[in-house]
Amino acid sequence: MLNSLKGNLRFVLAFAGACLVGVYIHEIGHAVAGWVQGIPVFPTPAKEYILLDQVEWDQETWISLGGVIGTVLVVLGTLLWYVRSNRFIADAILAGVLLTPCLYTVRFLLVGRGHDALEWQAAQSALGLAPAGHAVDLLFLGLLLAGIAVWIVRRHSSLRLSSVVRVLGLVVGGIALLVILQTTNNALFDQFFPKTTTMDVPAGLDPR
Ligand SMILES: [Zn+2]
Repeated sequence: MLNSLKGNLRFVLAFAGACLVGVYIHEIGHAVAGWVQGIPVFPTPAKEYILLDQVEWDQETWISLGGVIGTVLVVLGTLLWYVRSNRFIADAILAGVLLTPCLYTVRFLLVGRGHDALEWQAAQSALGLAPAGHAVDLLFLGLLLAGIAVWIVRRHSSLRLSSVVRVLGLVVGGIALLVILQTTNNALFDQFFPKTTTMDVPAGLDPR
């Protein structure tokens, strides 16, 4: 009984830790893309702050793409590690890292865009893709499905109801964790970095 409680606690902590690290790597991706352009960007655990009054739209598109690349790298890296790992805790870490693509996909299905404001449209512009398209939405949907497929093949050859219930619990708990993280992050850091950066956003983009 005590051992199973301990095991569950370790699982939840590893899951939550992987969620938080995954989100922070996304923010660091934004910051690195700013730094290489000479733009000071400060990555906090759940938001990047651009420390300039004005940036060009072209520069912003690369900063947006940096976050996408950060998340893609962390998901692909975890998947590569996961297929070679036999540790029980690896399931928790994979699930934690997949939570952000899962959240983007849920938002895409509900609202039509995986990320708020113009982040995906800007990232698609940097890649030379149609800004109004859904390339980044589909990328994260694909990564989520790939992660789920690897998990099923590697650990659970037959899907059991108890696994599905457990995964749904993780998704709901994980989304709650990310909402708390974002709210706390904004409450702590917005006061130090007032949002004053302006840019000329091209016409025709569609913030949602
Ligand atoms: Zn971002």
